[in-house]
Amino acid sequence: MRNQPEYNILLVEDDPGHAALIDRAFETHANCRLTITATLQQARSLIASTSPDLIITDVKLPDGHGTELLNPGPGCPTIVMTGYSDEKVALNAMKSGAADYIVKTQETMSSLPRTASRVMREWRLVIDQKLARERQQRLTAILEATPDLICIANLDGFVTYINQSGRKLLGIGKEENISRIRLADFHSPADGQKILNEGIPRAIQEGMWTDETTFLSLTGEKVLTSQVLISHRNNCGEIEFFSTIARDIRHLRAAEERVEYLAYYDTLTGLPNRNELTKRLDMEVARVRRNQNFGALLFIDLDNFKYINDSMGHPAGDLVLQEMAQRLQAHLRGDDTVARLGGDEFIVILSGLSPDAREAVSHARDIANKIRDTIAMECRIHDSELHVTASIGISMITSEDYSGHDLLRFGDTAMYQAKREGRNRLEFFSESMSSDVTRQLELENQLRRALKKNQFRLYYQPVVNRAMEVIGAEALIRWEHPELGVVAPAEFLEVLETSGQIVEVGSWVIETALKQMTLWVEQGLLGSDFLICINISPRQFRDKQFAKNIQSQLERINVPTRNIIMEVTEHNIIHNIDDAIQRMQELINRGISFSLDDFGTGYSSLAHLKNLPVSHIKIDRSFVEDICNDTGDQAMVASILALSKHLGLEVVAEGVEGPEQFELLKKFNCEYYQGFYFSEPLSDRNMTVPRGRYRR
Ligand code: C2E
Ligand code: MG
Ligand code: MG
Repeated sequence: MRNQPEYNILLVEDDPGHAALIDRAFETHANCRLTITATLQQARSLIASTSPDLIITDVKLPDGHGTELLNPGPGCPTIVMTGYSDEKVALNAMKSGAADYIVKTQETMSSLPRTASRVMREWRLVIDQKLARERQQRLTAILEATPDLICIANLDGFVTYINQSGRKLLGIGKEENISRIRLADFHSPADGQKILNEGIPRAIQEGMWTDETTFLSLTGEKVLTSQVLISHRNNCGEIEFFSTIARDIRHLRAAEERVEYLAYYDTLTGLPNRNELTKRLDMEVARVRRNQNFGALLFIDLDNFKYINDSMGHPAGDLVLQEMAQRLQAHLRGDDTVARLGGDEFIVILSGLSPDAREAVSHARDIANKIRDTIAMECRIHDSELHVTASIGISMITSEDYSGHDLLRFGDTAMYQAKREGRNRLEFFSESMSSDVTRQLELENQLRRALKKNQFRLYYQPVVNRAMEVIGAEALIRWEHPELGVVAPAEFLEVLETSGQIVEVGSWVIETALKQMTLWVEQGLLGSDFLICINISPRQFRDKQFAKNIQSQLERINVPTRNIIMEVTEHNIIHNIDDAIQRMQELINRGISFSLDDFGTGYSSLAHLKNLPVSHIKIDRSFVEDICNDTGDQAMVASILALSKHLGLEVVAEGVEGPEQFELLKKFNCEYYQGFYFSEPLSDRNMTVPRGRYRR
């Protein structure tokens, strides 16, 4: 089998004798395939279709000059043949780009294969060099364009190349001579030593060394980098040069530090956060154990912060927190810590108060009082004057065996107690407090189960008119505890309220009362104008879904809304009167009425009355209790009744226990009554067993 020819050679020759001679000369060269043509035109089309590796062309052709093939360049070397020695033609051919020329003789034509292979070899070499040059240029372009510093140094450590980023980083001008600079000179003295003593030996031994190093720019700027140093060897294994790549990691490090900061500091106030606090608290506990110098932990909770957030928006709330953080910081000594636990809770650790326990307690109290006063100072936010107060729980840090976590818990408990005692005050932690809280939590859990296990019941207390006819009833919740029996709301309502469970339980109350009411009416036991009074707690009333939930309950339960009265107290509305009025109005539009419960015990009841869209008020039991003996109470009740009449409000007197009270109230023109004298609250079964007369 013949070998596949390696080279395609195009011979353009119109003299058949010369063509045959040359063809013969190539016959013995199996790697060359000769294509012969006699005209320029054909040659051109063959060049286009076969891309020859070499063209051998006669100058004189029937349709022109062979040198015309050189323009434009055919993409391969060309040997031009002339019939006679004509220097001019040859010179022109070479100028036009011919690779070689021959004067046609028997000998030159016979040796054309040799000439051809030399020409092709030389052409290849030129092409290769060009490619190599291009490759080199590309690599240099990459090195110059990379944002990392790249530097090459010789065996003695002197720099032979540094890329543009490197020059920029170090402040070296383009024209500046770098040959006197050593690799180690770029670094801070300590890192320069490290490169010499560790980097270079390690790169020689292991091929590569990496570390974080600091470069020094000519302007003195320190640049932290992640640096790699590499040794490069030749084929014989001898080291020829070193290269190094260094990446500026200042931004990366700054980001890492930021993450670290976020893990331990609160971004809003810049104070230590819970993590950092825990660390410092543990240190403080250890310190007190060592030197017996007592400290204290103050657990500070802003009293009305939620209200500020709700009514003025979170950005205003944030400003308040920042302001309070600053006030706290301004107040403390260097050793003390102020931290933000989250929300509106701050912790202060007072360190080294006194080795004497009593003195330490007294200092802690003084400082806590000062803090309370600073917080209570007027605070201006967006042109509004705010009065923020705080409840502070204090837990002493003594040498007893309590952890930081315990102390926080104690502080929290004491703070909670301060809130219960009326806010804007301090409380020291005591053991009994802790058991109170434990009991509280236990009760919370039990109540959660009570709802699931259906242990709540509604009792109903009749409301009567002057003729003692029952015109309606107030629904009152009871907890039928499997062991304790019937538990009154005083025992558990507050816990439902503080834990937020009241929202769910309250919704159950409304649903149950409305269903019961429809049942009685369906059974014909009550008249269709019978009123059902349902108590609504502050938290339940403030819940965003409150009105919406009632609407959906009303859609499910078919009860006329004019029969429903919702009882709210002034606690429900005092925080945000406008919002409360809007909420009430939403339901009033649906036909529901509102009654102001426990009237007379609130803040500035009479002042509020004319603004509130209530249709009933209930005079609190405490005024009725002593009404027969206490002239003050008599005056109070008489004026409430007079005012109500004036405002067109219906009045119910609560807690009527005997006939004397009833008679007196009747004399004051009270229309409606509720109390043990008429009936105690009754279970749903007993409710319809007539005790008083039901108005039909
Ligand atoms: P309230 O709304 O003022 O209800 C009247 C309370 O006075 C009831 O106590 C009732 O049993 C009691 N009472 C009625 N007549 C007399 C009387 O002649 N003498 C005396 N000494 N007391 C009388 P109860 O049922 O223990 O409820 C206490 C409070 O718990 C209620 O006061 C109300 O504020 C709240 N409450 C009761 N049920 C619910 C409820 O379902 N939801 C909400 N949010 N609160 C409720
Ligand atoms: Mg009530
Ligand atoms: Mg009441």
